[in-house]
Amino acid sequence: MASDQTSKQTSKQTSDRSSTMWVPVCCGRVMRCNMFRQADGGSYAALVCSVCNKNITLEQEPAEAANKFGEGSKILSLIGSPKPPKTERKKSPGEASPDDPTL
Ligand SMILES: [Zn+2]
Repeated sequence: MASDQTSKQTSKQTSDRSSTMWVPVCCGRVMRCNMFRQADGGSYAALVCSVCNKNITLEQEPAEAANKFGEGSKILSLIGSPKPPKTERKKSPGEASPDDPTL
Protein backbone atom coordinates (compact mmCIF):
# COMPACT_ATOMS: atom_id res chain seq x y z
CA MET A 1 0.00 0.00 0.00
CA ALA A 2 3.07 2.23 0.10
CA SER A 3 2.79 2.91 -3.62
CA ASP A 4 -0.77 4.05 -3.07
CA GLN A 5 0.38 6.81 -0.72
CA THR A 6 3.00 7.94 -3.20
CA SER A 7 0.46 8.37 -5.96
CA LYS A 8 -1.74 10.37 -3.62
CA GLN A 9 1.07 12.81 -2.90
CA THR A 10 1.81 13.15 -6.59
CA SER A 11 -1.78 14.01 -7.41
CA LYS A 12 -1.74 16.62 -4.66
CA GLN A 13 1.19 18.37 -6.29
CA THR A 14 -0.34 18.28 -9.74
CA SER A 15 -3.71 19.57 -8.49
CA ASP A 16 -2.17 23.03 -8.26
CA ARG A 17 -1.41 22.98 -11.93
CA SER A 18 -4.76 21.52 -12.91
CA SER A 19 -6.43 24.71 -11.72
CA THR A 20 -5.82 25.93 -15.26
CA MET A 21 -7.18 24.38 -18.40
CA TRP A 22 -6.61 24.50 -22.13
CA VAL A 23 -9.18 25.92 -24.47
CA PRO A 24 -9.29 24.63 -28.05
CA VAL A 25 -9.51 27.67 -30.32
CA CYS A 26 -9.94 27.97 -34.08
CA CYS A 27 -10.75 31.07 -36.12
CA GLY A 28 -10.76 33.07 -32.89
CA ARG A 29 -13.61 31.04 -31.41
CA VAL A 30 -13.75 28.28 -28.85
CA MET A 31 -14.21 24.96 -30.63
CA ARG A 32 -17.30 22.93 -29.90
CA CYS A 33 -16.81 19.48 -28.45
CA ASN A 34 -19.08 16.55 -29.24
CA MET A 35 -18.70 13.27 -27.38
CA PHE A 36 -19.50 9.95 -28.96
CA ARG A 37 -19.91 6.47 -27.57
CA GLN A 38 -18.36 3.62 -29.46
CA ALA A 39 -19.89 0.17 -29.77
CA ASP A 40 -17.01 -1.37 -27.78
CA GLY A 41 -17.78 0.83 -24.77
CA GLY A 42 -15.05 3.36 -25.38
CA SER A 43 -15.69 6.93 -26.29
CA TYR A 44 -14.17 9.61 -28.40
CA ALA A 45 -14.72 13.29 -28.89
CA ALA A 46 -14.63 15.64 -31.82
CA LEU A 47 -13.63 19.27 -31.59
CA VAL A 48 -15.38 21.24 -34.29
CA CYS A 49 -14.82 24.81 -35.41
CA SER A 50 -18.16 26.48 -36.10
CA VAL A 51 -16.51 28.90 -38.54
CA CYS A 52 -14.34 26.76 -40.85
CA ASN A 53 -15.71 23.34 -39.86
CA LYS A 54 -12.27 22.00 -39.05
CA ASN A 55 -12.60 19.03 -36.78
CA ILE A 56 -10.15 17.27 -34.54
CA THR A 57 -10.77 13.82 -33.17
CA LEU A 58 -9.84 13.10 -29.58
CA GLU A 59 -9.45 9.48 -28.60
CA GLN A 60 -9.65 8.41 -25.01
CA GLU A 61 -6.83 6.38 -23.48
CA PRO A 62 -6.00 5.48 -19.91
CA ALA A 63 -3.74 8.05 -18.25
CA GLU A 64 -1.06 5.44 -17.61
CA ALA A 65 -0.56 5.12 -21.36
CA ALA A 66 0.92 8.64 -21.41
CA ASN A 67 4.49 7.37 -21.10
CA LYS A 68 4.39 5.71 -24.51
CA PHE A 69 3.93 9.08 -26.22
CA GLY A 70 7.56 10.03 -25.80
CA GLU A 71 9.54 12.37 -23.64
CA GLY A 72 8.07 15.78 -22.86
CA SER A 73 4.51 14.55 -23.28
CA LYS A 74 2.04 16.26 -21.02
CA ILE A 75 -1.51 15.52 -20.11
CA LEU A 76 -3.49 18.65 -20.85
CA SER A 77 -6.74 19.50 -19.14
CA LEU A 78 -8.83 20.42 -22.13
CA ILE A 79 -12.24 22.01 -21.88
CA GLY A 80 -14.75 20.20 -24.04
CA SER A 81 -17.94 22.19 -24.23
CA PRO A 82 -20.87 21.27 -26.48
CA LYS A 83 -22.08 24.87 -26.31
CA PRO A 84 -19.08 27.15 -25.78
CA PRO A 85 -19.57 30.92 -25.62
CA LYS A 86 -19.69 32.43 -29.08
CA THR A 87 -17.69 35.45 -28.09
CA GLU A 88 -14.51 36.09 -29.98
CA ARG A 89 -11.30 35.24 -28.19
CA LYS A 90 -9.11 38.23 -27.68
CA LYS A 91 -5.49 37.64 -27.03
CA SER A 92 -4.38 39.22 -23.82
CA PRO A 93 -0.65 39.89 -23.42
CA GLY A 94 -0.40 37.13 -20.86
CA GLU A 95 -1.94 34.58 -23.19
CA ALA A 96 0.13 35.33 -26.25
CA SER A 97 2.09 32.37 -27.50
CA PRO A 98 5.90 32.66 -27.69
CA ASP A 99 5.87 32.50 -31.48
CA ASP A 100 3.24 35.20 -31.85
CA PRO A 101 4.47 37.43 -34.71
CA THR A 102 2.74 40.51 -33.28
CA LEU A 103 5.14 40.57 -30.36
ZN1 LIG B 1 -11.71 27.40 -37.78
